[in-house]
Amino acid sequence: MTEPLPTIVLIGHGMVGQRYLEALAERGVTATHRITVLCEEPRPAYDRVHLTSYFSGSTAEDLSMTPAGFMEEHGIALHLDDPAEHIDRAARRVTSRSGQVFPYDVLVLATGSYPFVPPVPGKDAPGCFVYRTIEDLLAIEEYAKDRGSGAVVGGGLLGLEAAGALQGLGLATRIVEFAPRLMPVQVDEGGGAALLRTIESMGLTVHTGVGTQEVVTGEDGHVSGMRLSDGSTVDTDLVVFSAGVRPRDQLARDCGLDVGERGGIAVDARCRTSDAHVYAIGECALAVDGRVYGLVAPGYEMAETAADDLLGREKEFTGADLSTKLKLLGVDVASFGDAHGATPDSLDVVWSDSRSGVYKKLVVSPDGVLLGGVLVGDADSYGLLRPLTGSVPPVAPEQLVLPAGVGAPVALGPSALPDHAVICSCHNVTKKAIAACDTLAEVKKCTKAGTGCGSCVKVIGQLLPAATDKGLCGCFPFTRAELYEIVRTRRLTSYEEILDGHGRPEARGGDGCEVCKPTVGSIIASLAPTLGASGYVLDGEQAALQDTNDHFLANMQRNGSYSVVPRIPGGEITPDKLIVIGEVARDFGLYTKITGGQRIDLFGASVDQLPRIWARLVDAGFESGHAYGKALRTVKSCVGQTWCRYGVQDSVRMAIDLELRYRGLRAPHKLKSAVSGCARECAEAQSKDFGVIATASGWNLYVGGNGGATPRHADLLAQDLSDAELVRLIDRFLMFYIRTADRLERTSTWLERLEGGLDHLRDVVVHDSLGLCAELEALMADHVAHYRDEWAETLQDPERLRRFVSFVNAPGAPDPTVKFVPERDQVKPDLAVLTIGGPVR
Ligand SMILES: Cc1cc2nc3c(=O)[nH]c(=O)nc-3n(C[C@H](O)[C@H](O)[C@H](O)COP(=O)(O)OP(=O)(O)OC[C@H]3O[C@@H](n4cnc5c(N)ncnc54)[C@H](O)[C@@H]3O)c2cc1C
Ligand code: SF4
Repeated sequence: MTEPLPTIVLIGHGMVGQRYLEALAERGVTATHRITVLCEEPRPAYDRVHLTSYFSGSTAEDLSMTPAGFMEEHGIALHLDDPAEHIDRAARRVTSRSGQVFPYDVLVLATGSYPFVPPVPGKDAPGCFVYRTIEDLLAIEEYAKDRGSGAVVGGGLLGLEAAGALQGLGLATRIVEFAPRLMPVQVDEGGGAALLRTIESMGLTVHTGVGTQEVVTGEDGHVSGMRLSDGSTVDTDLVVFSAGVRPRDQLARDCGLDVGERGGIAVDARCRTSDAHVYAIGECALAVDGRVYGLVAPGYEMAETAADDLLGREKEFTGADLSTKLKLLGVDVASFGDAHGATPDSLDVVWSDSRSGVYKKLVVSPDGVLLGGVLVGDADSYGLLRPLTGSVPPVAPEQLVLPAGVGAPVALGPSALPDHAVICSCHNVTKKAIAACDTLAEVKKCTKAGTGCGSCVKVIGQLLPAATDKGLCGCFPFTRAELYEIVRTRRLTSYEEILDGHGRPEARGGDGCEVCKPTVGSIIASLAPTLGASGYVLDGEQAALQDTNDHFLANMQRNGSYSVVPRIPGGEITPDKLIVIGEVARDFGLYTKITGGQRIDLFGASVDQLPRIWARLVDAGFESGHAYGKALRTVKSCVGQTWCRYGVQDSVRMAIDLELRYRGLRAPHKLKSAVSGCARECAEAQSKDFGVIATASGWNLYVGGNGGATPRHADLLAQDLSDAELVRLIDRFLMFYIRTADRLERTSTWLERLEGGLDHLRDVVVHDSLGLCAELEALMADHVAHYRDEWAETLQDPERLRRFVSFVNAPGAPDPTVKFVPERDQVKPDLAVLTIGGPVR
């Protein structure tokens, strides 16, 4: 008779449990042991880190962490929906809820955590939820139907994520946080302030420094509100508790294993509990450094450690990096190393721009070693900064936090990192190991890097030789033009749907990035009428996709104030309208400048002044000039035939017609145009994306010009066109460009890149060689028919107006950091208020 195989029983099939099984398989232990897994949940392990993506269309299958056939291949017996209820250590056996008894030689506890619910009256009322499992999310989703508001208790990492989910479900959402700032564990005071500001600008209500004293219920016994510790009562239909987690150590307590004073199954450096036959790994374990880790990366390392220990291999888990990078409610938040500057004598280097919600702090030692940092609003550099922790960076720390264009001469690339720098902290993978691979798929397969939280994927991409990937960004394997076609042909109007359905596998279910979000936002906006979507750029999910300028329908300037540019089609304006502009500028103290594009730019408006300024302008017949968008800006004109002795056509009328036709048109880059009344070219039409020059018998159309940093003369596309022919050709040209250009590609570079160049363009838009012209014209007709002025539309909707405040908690209060000083009888920004090199006061 053969000896029975030694048996391992694993309790808990969460993220760390599955990792443990994989570690066993990699070490060949599955062939030498019998393995049984008891799983409380009705489904095998899934990606809890990306749980929220369940609301945006990810299925349980998408989130699954168990490769198909894994259990069968390794002979692992998985018992779903059957939690362990009792451990008999003396007899070495576990009894499950169904009454089955499982003897073991080795027992591994990977039972994770449970959400802590503060003991407030009403906490069990219908309408109260926690946020931990797919089942929790399903219950929230069901309850939220037909309900209007929700509140999250806890403004930590998970609380913000839950709040984002509630807002995504259409609920007016508030966050109640006991600490004086959001995410108190990860970010410092300055970071918390930047986060608060941005989150409030998204329409969420945040209460900090207050606790929840009671969940109030209505007559039907369901949640109707909350009483807070400051004495106020707020209405809410639903409450999600996200006030921290506690290790699930009850089974261990019951069977007499050592647990920590504040919970957690005590383990040594090899993850062994007080019983040599029992291990504990993941969130249920109290590590040897006295911490219970609430992150997945330390859990994975514990899983590896326990698997090695089984084979007698030397490996110890003595502590882990608590670095995190997340996108919460669309805001990048990252912290790494000694983020709070707890190291004696440490120094701070701070960049703070509270107007754009960016806060970056680096903590350095007196001799220049990078100790840690906090990044809010822009965490792009996290992937490079975190691996540099513990070393002296190759450039001065201020260069690592200053934004481009404000004295940051060095773009620190991954090449600056040493070979031993850990790029993927979830799986502890170094730059050297990644550089040995050719593709992202290979990196993931061979090293697992990039398969955890995903924050390192961008840096990995930069390290690979296959940086030839033409995809738009780390989220999409498609060019902008391909993405445009996907959106158009599949009639997609939701960013999440596009990302989850067409993004790179590793990006699906995530939140996208700053490259693809505005790009997709622009594509949806330019196709909106054809797709049947709202053309208003700040409607629903579209708002979160927009760049800062589009977000406030005005141009953000250096000191965080905004400039307002009313449309003046063709540059023609009545004296009355000129007076209105002057009066508005005077009444709001705005700096006034006539631009190169025949507009009047009004600078120095604060966010809360914008609606009042627009109201005055809209009343006087002005509309948005879209100077903030990647959209048509101006169609400049000379004075033309009407007044000029040389003019052969009415260039002003044509410029007005063209500007009104294409106003609001979103494109890969801003678009400018001009119409000259004769070949003398006073309107400089040949330096424009499309320029029109009058001839004795009609109009000549020039395309692909650029007066920007790399000037280019436009090419003549067609000659002597009638009014109707001219407009039709421009329609086709613009739509073909919008459809096929890359992100942020001007018409000039696009034309030069286009295979076949001008001849090909002419074939397509004049001779219809691709049979596209009818479609291009129809797209433009849709745009023209559905144009609405964004300023006027915003003014009509009190909900939309709510975003235009400096402080959500104190509407009407101006932002004290926006200051001006006099210059030449007007004002200019006082830049001294920007903070560099010291803490924000
Ligand atoms: C919404 C959300 C977002 C998160 N985001 C991040 C992030 O961005 N980064 C990060 O690092 N971490 C994040 N986390 C935390 C991360 O998910 C956990 O650190 C990780 O899941 C811990 O893995 P685990 O296996 O220890 O516990 P779990 O994944 O919770 O698994 C434990 C499993 O054990 C089961 N179990 C418990 N008791 C028994 C029993 N008696 N019998 C059988 N089964 C039992 C539980 O039902 C559960 O399925 C997030 C968590 C949530 C909920
Ligand atoms: S372009 Fe010709 S028509 Fe226009 S202002 Fe100059 S000279 Fe006159």
